[in-house]
Amino acid sequence: ALRTAPLRARAEIDLAALRANVRTLRALAPGAALMAVVKSDAYGHGAVPCARAAVEAGARWLGTATPEEALVLRAAGLDGVRIMCWLWTPGGPWREAIEADLDVSVSGMWALREVTEAARSAGAPARVQLKADTGLGRNGCQPGDDWAELVREALRAEADGLIRITGLWSHFACADEPGHPSIAAQLSRFREMVAYAEAQGVRPEVRHIANSPATLTLPESHFDLVRTGIATYGISPSPELGSPADFGLRPVMTLSASLALVKHVPGGHGVSYGHHYLTPGETTLGLVPLGYADGIPRHASGAGPVLVGGKWRTVAGRIAMDQFVVDLGGDEPEPGARAVLFGPGDRGEPTAEDWAQAAGTIAYEIVTRIGTRVPRVYR
Ligand code: PLP
Repeated sequence: ALRTAPLRARAEIDLAALRANVRTLRALAPGAALMAVVKSDAYGHGAVPCARAAVEAGARWLGTATPEEALVLRAAGLDGVRIMCWLWTPGGPWREAIEADLDVSVSGMWALREVTEAARSAGAPARVQLKADTGLGRNGCQPGDDWAELVREALRAEADGLIRITGLWSHFACADEPGHPSIAAQLSRFREMVAYAEAQGVRPEVRHIANSPATLTLPESHFDLVRTGIATYGISPSPELGSPADFGLRPVMTLSASLALVKHVPGGHGVSYGHHYLTPGETTLGLVPLGYADGIPRHASGAGPVLVGGKWRTVAGRIAMDQFVVDLGGDEPEPGARAVLFGPGDRGEPTAEDWAQAAGTIAYEIVTRIGTRVPRVYR
């Protein structure tokens, strides 16, 4: 109600593009169900609206890192869809997770003990997915004795009616580098660890290991379920794999701002902190009201591209907390003119990948870090 002026800045979220991406990904993995990974506020796109759109397009699962993120989805009324969360710490909200009918990931014995205790006090079984470390070296149970113990104790808890082992799963380290020897090694270790668990009597509903790059490039990794994060948002996992369009995907987020000021300056004018940019001659400067507090990477100072008035401009000097400057080369757009930092790229604007290259990072980080001060506008 306070707002009547145009928005300072906005991240437009194209939910039709997201739905189309989900359909494209489902068609790529026809034998598998799709889990839309909506952790970290759906990679900065807004968890609840994106989760709803993904479910509308046929995602039967939603995935989050923390249980708190998963509980928010249930509280928002996302029922009738399986929700899995995988990043637990001791003392976590196991009971709430059981009551919300979440699938919880268990990588080791402390978590199995906590979830079975919670199930006992809740009087209802927990849906548990056992996570195998097939070579990522991060979360997950080591093969061998550790896996044997976890499987044995999980089966015991299942026989006691405290848990149901709904899934066996793992995660790739290098799926975005086709041909990397770790991919085949992880796949064969996954098959072995699944076969061992099944030989002991585990009857999982789903076995899964594929993230976006594996979904896009490695059909033999699809098993019963693919977990797509970045591709859901229309971004390629890595430029080496191809562009979003190569996979029939469309970027979902467009980040833009209204120029806060346009002014004439003489040559040799220092711009922004440290005067790392000196105007090469008389020119015009445009002030973009977004900064590193909004997630615009300071590492892209002097490099990040912005579309203003049909032309690519470059960040002049340092990106500050709330604002940065572009050299408009003498053009005189009106204050309030739109500056597009990134979008799908087919209207002449840069992409999140362009910003990732300018900042020496990955596009995942660019979209995920766009801050809460930037309103998401859904269409
Ligand atoms: N599965 C797990 C366990 C993850 O942590 C992630 C995100 O890193 C994903 C799936 C989705 O990965 P991507 O965004 O590459 O599809």
